[in-house]
Amino acid sequence: MKKLITALLTCMLTAAMLGGCGKAADDANSSNADVNAEITAADQDAADTDAQADGADDAAAGDEEGASAEVKTVKEGVLTMATNATFPPYEYYESDAIVGIDAEIAEAVAKKLGLELKIEDMEFDSIILAVTQGKADLGLAGMTVTEERLEAVDFSDSYATGIQAVIVAEDSEIAGISDLDGKKIGVQLATTGDIYAKEDFGEDNVEAYNKGADAVMALKQGKVDAVIIDNQPALAFIQNTDGLKILDTEYAVEDYAAAIAKGNDALRTAVNDALAELEEDGTLQSIIDKYIVSE
Ligand code: GLN
Repeated sequence: MKKLITALLTCMLTAAMLGGCGKAADDANSSNADVNAEITAADQDAADTDAQADGADDAAAGDEEGASAEVKTVKEGVLTMATNATFPPYEYYESDAIVGIDAEIAEAVAKKLGLELKIEDMEFDSIILAVTQGKADLGLAGMTVTEERLEAVDFSDSYATGIQAVIVAEDSEIAGISDLDGKKIGVQLATTGDIYAKEDFGEDNVEAYNKGADAVMALKQGKVDAVIIDNQPALAFIQNTDGLKILDTEYAVEDYAAAIAKGNDALRTAVNDALAELEEDGTLQSIIDKYIVSE
């Protein structure tokens, strides 16, 4: 059975760990760059009152003295997170609010840094650009660390493992990855599923949709034979759709991390310190457990 998720905070990500990720349709080429500053959720400004106390903790616990004090953010006093809120259970809408594992982790990190969290929802494709253009401090979106993305941004330490899973119809003849040869594969545009599938099975066999849910809908309608997508959203999507199943075979295992502007070491260190503390005190695990019920 698949190991759904693990909090891995100890490993510092290096390019060396990330072999075999292939070449990307790089986000630098992304056209719809402009961030829809659709500010949602996250004006849960509870953070402020605790900020002082946490700041003191940080100074004591962090190895970089006063890291959070030196952190410059896009907007003073605010940690701006770019995401794509179509990716349950990491980020999705509940009424008007963006909730999920990433949203809560970002809220906890912001609190540790004495900042107020603001979440900006945009196309997945635009997230890295928002970070590189200085419109967002963090890209946090169940985002896999890849070599190509590392050319554009830095990443925090990994806070979770992601798995590229394959969804097929319950009665499908597709039983493993090799059966995907020559089949029509649906993916979410510009995700690792999209990138790897195009490399492995050819561009002509891959249909990229703006949302993972749209790819799953296409599968349901018989327009594609399989969907490759991260396994947690896969589970969420098939829950609401009859007649689909997830193959036991994992297509790829990946590290999720926060994208941060290249060279912004103060922020990266502060985020890593905050993540390490949240891991140590069990906060990370409790956030994950809230959204992922292990089997
Ligand atoms: N983990 C995948 C990627 O980074 C998908 C992320 C997403 O769709 N939010 O490409």
